[in-house]
Amino acid sequence: MGDASPQILGGTRLPDFAVLSERVAVALGQNPSLFTGPGTNTYLVGTGPARLLLDTGSGLAGYWPVLEDALARLGVQRIEGIVLTHAHPDHIGGVNQIRERLGEVPVFKMPWPRQHTLAGPDGGVSPIAVANPDDLAEGPLETLADGGIVRTEGATLRAIHTPGHAPDHLCFLLEEERALFSGDNVLGIGTTVIPAESGDLGDYMASLERLLEERPTRIYPAHGPVIDDGTAKLREYLAHRRQREQQVLDALAAGDRFAMAMVERIYVGYPESLFPAAAQSVTSHLRKLEREGRARSEACAEGGTRWSLVAGPAS
Ligand SMILES: [Zn+2]
Repeated sequence: MGDASPQILGGTRLPDFAVLSERVAVALGQNPSLFTGPGTNTYLVGTGPARLLLDTGSGLAGYWPVLEDALARLGVQRIEGIVLTHAHPDHIGGVNQIRERLGEVPVFKMPWPRQHTLAGPDGGVSPIAVANPDDLAEGPLETLADGGIVRTEGATLRAIHTPGHAPDHLCFLLEEERALFSGDNVLGIGTTVIPAESGDLGDYMASLERLLEERPTRIYPAHGPVIDDGTAKLREYLAHRRQREQQVLDALAAGDRFAMAMVERIYVGYPESLFPAAAQSVTSHLRKLEREGRARSEACAEGGTRWSLVAGPAS
């Protein structure tokens, strides 16, 4: 389907628990919403009696019995570590809940870079705004960087720093399957949102290229069903963003000056309820083009941002 529309994540149902491979099972976070689709996938990784938990959902009461049931069905006695893809609240929200039940389970995560603000541009908190990383201060935190390894019996996870959706975003390659835990970088349904305040589309597209170099088999996304051909999906995501970028360039060349005008041109035929999210996506493209010296912006007296093409060498 279309672009930049977390709303279309709604409507897909996934089971609360599923065994996906010899070393991967999923427990659903019980936090369905317009932004999280069927909810966050929390993955139990490994083959032994102690396993890793990758992402934790939002910390809702309904998650604990689902996780407990998953552990029992797998015969898992202990969670030996929590691995987090990034600090958005639908990923880290369950950490404290799990620690309250199971004690001080170590958390593995890349720190949120301090230069990125946590508040939204209007001071409000958007549904995908960043949870305060200090929420994780209680209990051990193992800092992960690009290339960092987390091991458990039967599984080796290699961290790949993939900023763009969030500056602290890590994907994890499951070495034994050459499968990828993609967090919010690649979704099983819909497309990734690049938040205006802390996202960066240029970084995001570079991250997709980096993931493509790994030629992953499967992708285990944070939302939606498993993707069987991960490499094909990464190519599709990149092609989609490049096509959108060209549409934004074409709209600028045609004389559109405001993001919403471009949305009305590019997303013709889509329901208007999707336009705010689409405007965010178009603005991400405009900012990327501006950083590359291909577009320029000026603030308007009456509010809003006016965009224009930077004349370059004829192409
Ligand atoms: Zn996220």
